[in-house]
Amino acid sequence: MIRIRSILILLALAPLGVSWLSVDVYRPLLIELGSALGIIGFSTLLIAFVVSGRTRWITKIINIDDSMRVHRALGVTALVTAFAHPFFFTGSLSGGDRPWDPTRALTITTDFGAMASGILAFALLPSFVLLARWHSSLEYRYETWRWIHAIGGCVLVGLVLHHTLTAGRYGEQETVALLWISGSILALLSIIDSRLIRGWIKYLNPWTVTQIEQVTPKQWVITVSPDNHKPLQYKAGQFVWLTIQSNPYSMEEHPFSISSAPASGPNLTFLVKELGDFTQNLNQINVGQRAYINGPYGHLRIDDRNEPGIVMIAGGVGIAPMLGFIRELRHTNDSRPIHLIYGNRNESQIAFKEELDPIDPTYVVAEPSTNWKGLTGCIDQTVLQTDLSEEQLKAWLFVLCGPPAMLEGVEGYLRDRGVPQSRILSERFNFG
Ligand SMILES: Cc1cc2nc3c(=O)[nH]c(=O)nc-3n(C[C@H](O)[C@H](O)[C@H](O)COP(=O)(O)OP(=O)(O)OC[C@H]3O[C@@H](n4cnc5c(N)ncnc54)[C@H](O)[C@@H]3O)c2cc1C
Repeated sequence: MIRIRSILILLALAPLGVSWLSVDVYRPLLIELGSALGIIGFSTLLIAFVVSGRTRWITKIINIDDSMRVHRALGVTALVTAFAHPFFFTGSLSGGDRPWDPTRALTITTDFGAMASGILAFALLPSFVLLARWHSSLEYRYETWRWIHAIGGCVLVGLVLHHTLTAGRYGEQETVALLWISGSILALLSIIDSRLIRGWIKYLNPWTVTQIEQVTPKQWVITVSPDNHKPLQYKAGQFVWLTIQSNPYSMEEHPFSISSAPASGPNLTFLVKELGDFTQNLNQINVGQRAYINGPYGHLRIDDRNEPGIVMIAGGVGIAPMLGFIRELRHTNDSRPIHLIYGNRNESQIAFKEELDPIDPTYVVAEPSTNWKGLTGCIDQTVLQTDLSEEQLKAWLFVLCGPPAMLEGVEGYLRDRGVPQSRILSERFNFG
């Protein structure tokens, strides 16, 4: 992650270096600082476009949680730097032709077009970033927010590009202009890739819902099969974006961990918990309906690990990727010992209990019935203290998936007990 951060910082600073190399005459320090902030603001905006969770080649390098964190950090950096940059410009203002100032070192532009696009971007950027930060507290659908975010991002890039090429003295230099234009095209291509090209690939590789079944009061299993195309190449624990009841280009695609094992055949199964508008209407999905898959994604993988055993800790529907692991280990006769700790609000929410019982999991239930004989409460320090052995803490791999509070508590406990981060894998079911 540190290496990736350094690469991103270098990329964000590269246009500044190119700009400085493109001129011979420099302006007073404050004005150069203002330009530098504007340049960094634009380059971080462009990088934020490419480093969004859905850019496939990026998710091969950084895990999707980290890429979303980086995306957000870049958005905030773009906001702060771009917002600050005009306040540094002091000096003579001038518009129109400036034959006395061919290098534009002496004047700050007042050209209407250049200023208008800059002012519009200046006004839009804060609402854009703040909306992204707090979209979940607003009343509209997640997909509506995604549309606003994608279109708003393209409009912003267009405005900032226009402002940079027309207002900035560096933007007038041919090399610098070329750099900004190609950067903007690349950023827009990443949207075209994630919406149009990916949609086209999904259209060519449709799937069919072959089973849909409610397995607990709030959880469903969906099974999809490929329609005459080759099976998905994935690893246990990975996830895909699933589209059902919408066209392949739609924003209505939801991330779900694959709970089937790659070794079990071409069908994919998902364990889905009712939550919002899509997952609460699963009873309207019928066998035979068309489905589309975008993936696989994700770094929650145990196939490339060589620890002597695996502790899996799941809260609620966080059991989904664990089912994928357990099933894959069984199908491939992998003899690595596993220990599962599985927490739920009540017993009726325990999914696939009969399948899991043979591996002797530790079930933890928050609101037990009077008949419950297992552990009660949440998966917290007390549970982990009694349940994990010294040997497991010393050498085993820990794979976690569940609600954020549970993950933070468990990760904190493991770190306190000396488990290095390299032996803890975790997945959050929320990109924010
Ligand atoms: C990597 C990952 C794996 C997941 N695996 C599973 C799983 O195996 N089983 C399961 O039940 N749930 C899983 N989820 C959560 C699941 O994606 C959401 O519960 C589901 O998308 C909610 O959609 P909705 O329309 O029913 O609810 P909404 O009310 O629309 O959304 C509720 C919240 O879910 C998230 N969400 C909704 N739509 C999307 C989307 N298109 N892309 C990203 N996030 C979205 C947002 O945070 C949103 O605030 C996973 C999430 C992630 C990020």
